[in-house]
Order: sequence, then C-alpha cells, then structure tokens
Amino acid sequence: MATEAELKAAGEKYIPKDYDPALYKLRHSLAHVLAQAVVEKFPQAIPTIGPPIEYGFYYDFDLDVNPTDGDLEWIANRMRQIIKGKHAFKVREVSADEGRAIFKDNPYKLELIDGLTKGKDEYGNEAGSAATITVYQQDTFVDLCRGPHVETTADLDSKGFKIQQVTGSYWRGKSDNKMLKRFHATAWASGDDLKAHLERVEEAARRDHRKLGRELELFANEPIFGSGFPMLLPKGATIRRVLEGFITEYERKAGYQHVFTPDIAKKELYYQSGHLPHYADSMFPFMQMGENPGEEDLVLRPMCCPHHIQVYKSKARSYRDLPIRIAELGNMYRFERSGVVGGLSRVRCMTLNDAHLFVRPDQVKGEIAGVLALMKKAYADLGITEYRFRLSKNADPSGPPSTKYVDNPAMWESSTKMLREVLQESGLPFFEAWNEAAFYGPKIDVQVKDVMGREETLSTIQADQHLPNQFQLEFKDSDDTPKRPVMIHRGVISTMERMTSYLIELHAGAFPVWLAPVQVALVPIGDRHFDFARALTERLVNADFRVEADLSHGRMQAKIRDAAKMKVPYILVIGDKEMEANAVAVRLRDGTDLGQKPVHEFVAMLDKVNASRTLKLVPDA
Ligand SMILES: [Zn+2]
Ligand SMILES: [Zn+2]
Repeated sequence: MATEAELKAAGEKYIPKDYDPALYKLRHSLAHVLAQAVVEKFPQAIPTIGPPIEYGFYYDFDLDVNPTDGDLEWIANRMRQIIKGKHAFKVREVSADEGRAIFKDNPYKLELIDGLTKGKDEYGNEAGSAATITVYQQDTFVDLCRGPHVETTADLDSKGFKIQQVTGSYWRGKSDNKMLKRFHATAWASGDDLKAHLERVEEAARRDHRKLGRELELFANEPIFGSGFPMLLPKGATIRRVLEGFITEYERKAGYQHVFTPDIAKKELYYQSGHLPHYADSMFPFMQMGENPGEEDLVLRPMCCPHHIQVYKSKARSYRDLPIRIAELGNMYRFERSGVVGGLSRVRCMTLNDAHLFVRPDQVKGEIAGVLALMKKAYADLGITEYRFRLSKNADPSGPPSTKYVDNPAMWESSTKMLREVLQESGLPFFEAWNEAAFYGPKIDVQVKDVMGREETLSTIQADQHLPNQFQLEFKDSDDTPKRPVMIHRGVISTMERMTSYLIELHAGAFPVWLAPVQVALVPIGDRHFDFARALTERLVNADFRVEADLSHGRMQAKIRDAAKMKVPYILVIGDKEMEANAVAVRLRDGTDLGQKPVHEFVAMLDKVNASRTLKLVPDA
C-alpha cells in the first residue's frame, strides 16, 4: 500500500489503519483485472502502479491517448468478462534478473525492481529490508506485486465496481516526471455494497458544508485572506454568536470563570510548556521583533493551555479554592499545509471552546465526570445523538519508540488509569486506542461519524500532570504544605469552526430553531400588507428572535420558495384575511402547512420551541 506522504503528494486520501483486509485484497485484485483490460484496449499502455485507496483503487498508465466514455465502457465490460473467466491469481517468486527480463519493456517496473533490490517496496517507500520480488498472474496478465490477492477472479463480483474517471498524475507524484493517466475506480464486495456507497456519496455531496455554506450564505473563502482563513458572513456569524452564548451560559452555571488572554506570546512560553519542540510542526513561524534573530521572538499560540496557566499563577491558591475552572473562547493558530485546508473544517485559525480545570488530585475524577455530563447535555441540544467515547493513549508499547509523547511512564500510567475509571464508573461505552493522546497526557475523545462513515474527534477531555510540573504550579494544602494540582484540558463543543461545519452537515443546513440564523421569514402578499409585516418584524426582533421580511414585489409562491430554500424554519404568509384577524398563515420549511394562527399564539409557540432548544418545529402539546 502506498504511504501517506505518497498518496498526499498524488492528491489521494490516505488509507486508515483499520482498512478492511478483505476489501484490500479485492480492490488490489480488481486493479490487476483493470490493468489487463486497459492493455488489451490500448496495447501501447504501460502499467505502472495500482494501489487500493479509500473506497476503491486506482491504476496509473503511461498512455498517450485520452480514453473516451466508450473506451471506459469497453474496459468495464471486458473486466466483467475476465472476472467471469474464474482465473486464478498465481504467485511466483523471481530473482531481480528474472523480474527485469519479464518487464524488459516497462521502464517503470524496472525502476520499481531496482527499488526492491535496495530495500524499497513496490511504491518506492522504505520497506526496511530488501524485499523478495513476486509476480502475480491472472489469465494473460502478469504484474509485479507484493499481493495479497483473492484466490481467483471468481471471488470478485462483476457488479461490485465502477470506473469513475481518468485524470492526469505524475509518476511518483513529482511534477518533473512524466504525466501518467490515472484510472479511478470504486470497488466493493457486491453490487448492493456499491449501490449503498454511491448513495452515501450523493448524500454527502448534498450535505457538504462547503456547498451549503455557499448556498445558505454562511461563510466564504477569499483568496486574499490566504487559504485556511474563511470569513463568516452575517448568517454564519449569527450561528457562531448563538453557539458561543449557549456554551458560555452552560459553563457559567457549572462554575467556570471566563477570561481573555492574548493570541500571541513570546516563544519562551512554549519552550516551557513543551509545545516546542513537541508541537513545532503545527506552529506558525516565529515573528522576529528584536534587532537580532532570537532576541525577542513572538509566536501565534497553537493552544491556550500555557496562557490559562498564567491566569492560575496570577495569585496564590489554596486547597479551598480548587477546583478552578478557567474558560475562554480562545483563538488558536495551526500551521496546516495549504493543500489540506478547506471549508470550515480544516482551517488555520480556529476558536476553541476551551477550558482548563486546575484541581486537587482527589477531585480529578469528579471534575471529569462533570465535564462528561456537560458534554452530554450540550450534544443533546445540538441534536448530536450518535457518538462514542475513545480512551486515547500514548505510543503502543509493542510498536516502535515514539518521540511524540513526553517521557514519563509513571505519569502516563496513572493518568490513563484515572480516565479509564471515570469512563467505567459513568457507564459510558468506550474503546481504547494507542497513539491518539496529546503529547502531555491521555485523552477521552468523543468520536462522531460523517455520512461516509468516517470517524472524527469532536470533543476531548485530557488529564495532564505534565504542564503543572513544567510550570511548577502549586496550591497550599490543608496541612500548609505546597502541593501540585492536576490540569484537565477540555473542549466541549470543539472549535466554533469544526462544530459549525459538523452541524451544517448533520442537519443538512436545516438547523434547530434555536440555532437557525433566520428563524422566521415574513411573506406579505402585496404592498398593502408591508406595514403589518414591518410591525410584526419589530415586535419579534425586540423579543430577541431572528426575523427577515421579504418586502420585494415578487410573487408569494416565489417568496415562500426562497425562504424554504434558505431552510428558514417558519414562513409566515400575510394577506388580507390574516391582517383582519391579526394572524399569520404558518408554513414550515419542509412544506407543512399549519394554517392560520393568531399572532400571539404563533409567538408563544416560537418562544417555547426556541427556549427549550427542541429539535422539533412544533412542540409537543
Ligand atoms: Zn497486486
Ligand atoms: Zn489545553
């Protein structure tokens, strides 16, 4: 399989560790079948490499014609014939010279064989030791390959794959090499699996936060800001303001104190915290302020932890003061490569719903349980119902040694044990994973899935005994001796950017009423209804609702359609009858017609739905 670096260079997605081995074999085998069909169609095509990737595989050929749709159809049909021929995948070990003889007309395979003899795998990556060279043959086609493959083509489903497109791609992903033709295909165990995948792709495209962000006028990316720095448009800014108000209210009620600390600090702060060097790859370059380099260098903060530590240290603390819960909607800056940023989910400046709890050792478990409770409450309001907890640990002791984590085995053991016990005692189902911790301590991560079934971390809680040591934090204990607090890092609703992008996709843009940027759209039918609409707008805005009146001269049906397209929960139509009865005709964004309601009745309903943060548009009676 190609490495992460190679796939990224080639513009492909890296395959996760938990890649299904059965799918791997199937996709790899289909790549050979495709290659056979391609060289039958284009005898001049020279096969290069064809690895499995997420959802399928690709195969690159040196080929100087552009295949037409008709060619691709021919190739797909031929692949089906080959599959039905029940050809065995026969493996043979060969010497380097035998390999060179077999592939004498293929300079790419010759280069690969040279690599194999020098301890590279067939994709040119370090394999550790000189690999044995194997060739696989099915039917008439022989390929240089490490395998593994299915036994015979009878193990493949002729309806389980789809050739998607052909694009250009440089050999080895390097632009001074020759441009090859890359055949992309998605491949599954059965036709039904393929169909389900294609449906997921369609649904993901429908919910894509970048597409909806544009259509719903939530955010935009302006090249002049640089990639990874989106701007929130008024409607997106409204969602963020509501989210911020929502979470800070919950935090205040849970005993948190909010602060503002600088986005920038001297580099020395991050040497003390250990972000330098552990986290240097993700940090922006230093800003040189002094005459000479290194004299006074400032850096954009990658995290708020060292800043909140300064808040803790701003006065003497006693055991009675603890726990101290310091919170901030903190801006953080991450130096992501420009190739990987995009939309709102991968950005270079983000605002984290951050907090650091400074607690006595005997308070750790109770405080973490409190954070979990807060998280569950917030998730319920946001409509996030499917998630699981991961206990994220440091480097797998059975794997190669890692420099990613601070070296303090006793600390890792005790922190991990604490987190595990909290999860066990809370009765929450969880799983454990190596190599997912923060550099200074283990985490509880909340994992959610997107439409494609890809898992990502939305929220985290971390137990940290490292930074308190680095900064020599103390509190005076009941016996008057200085003791060291434990630090709990936590983000309940993630960064504003990530949470917004996640919510856009989760709700397909149709936000719960309490979060919707516009909650009520007023549609006066004619000019004579405008004053009534203006008065009602003023009344609702004064009551703190978010309202837009369409005072254009468009047709009523078009105005209703526009509001529904913007996913406004309530669309109120106002005509003569409504004015006369001081009422509104209420429609929901999904087309449901609730009929005429007296204005006061509608306002009472809106108030109830908004205040309760229900996901329903019409409250239960
Ligand atoms: Zn193979
Ligand atoms: Zn932190």
